[in-house]
Amino acid sequence: VGGGRPPRGVGACGVGLESTAYLEDLLWAEEQFITPSYALFFSGCNFRCAFCYAAEYNRRPGEGRRVEPEAVAARVEALPERPASFSLIGGEPTCHLPTALRVMAALPPDLPVVWNSNFLFTPEVAELLAGAAAVYVADLHFGNDVCADAVGGVSPYFEAVARNLRWAREQGEVVVRLLALPGHVECCLGASLTWLAAEMKETPVHLLTNYLPPSTRLIKGAECQHSGCRDSGLDRYLTEAEVARARELVAASGLRQVE
Ligand code: SF4
Repeated sequence: VGGGRPPRGVGACGVGLESTAYLEDLLWAEEQFITPSYALFFSGCNFRCAFCYAAEYNRRPGEGRRVEPEAVAARVEALPERPASFSLIGGEPTCHLPTALRVMAALPPDLPVVWNSNFLFTPEVAELLAGAAAVYVADLHFGNDVCADAVGGVSPYFEAVARNLRWAREQGEVVVRLLALPGHVECCLGASLTWLAAEMKETPVHLLTNYLPPSTRLIKGAECQHSGCRDSGLDRYLTEAEVARARELVAASGLRQVE
C-alpha cells in the first residue's frame, strides 16, 4: 500500500519488527459468544480504507505502546474475572504476525483467541497461523476488486480473502462481519452474500448497519469507481432504504446471523 519503497526492515504497511498497540481493553460489544473480549489493537494496517475508524493509528504504525507479550498476558491474568476471549485486532494483526504469535503463546492456554482481521494475507501467513486461534472474525468489506482498490486501497482482493475464509473454516469457528457501506450495498454486501451463500453456507454472518462517516479529508479522492456505485461517496450515513435493503439481502441469503 502507499507509494515509495519502505525503509529497510519495514513492510509496505509501515510496520517494522517492533509492534505497537494503540489500545488494550475489555470489549463488551463483540459477538455474544466471545464477549467480553480482552482486546489488543495493533497500530498499522495493510489496507487504506477511506472510511477507516482508526486511520490516525493505521497510517502511523509506530503510534502507541510497545507490545510486550508476557506483560500483556500478565495483565490478562490480573483481571478480576477471566474474559470469554482474547482478541487480536488492528489495524491488522497480520502485519504483526511475529508479535501476535508470541502474545498467543504467552496467554493462558484455556483462553480462546480471536483473530479479528481483514483476511487479506498470504498462504505463508495461514501456515504460521494454523492452530493458533480458536475463532476467526473476518471483515469482508468488499465484494469485488474494483471497490477494494477504490475504497480500501488494495488489489487484488476478493480471491485471496475467499481462499483465506475457506482455510479458516477448517481451523476453527468463523464469523464474517459485513459492514454495509453507503453506495456499496449491492456491489459489496450483495456480492459478498452471494459468494458466502454459495461457498460457505454454514458460516454465520454479522451484519453491521452502524456505518459512521469519517472526516471528508480521508474520503477525498477515494470514491468508488465501480459502475454500480460510481456516484456514491462515503461521507454520509446509510439511508433508511440502504439499511432495509441490507437486511433484506442478508435474510434472502439464508445465512445464519449472529449478533
Ligand atoms: S481494514 Fe479495517 S483497520 Fe484496516 S484500514 Fe480498513 S477499516 Fe481500517
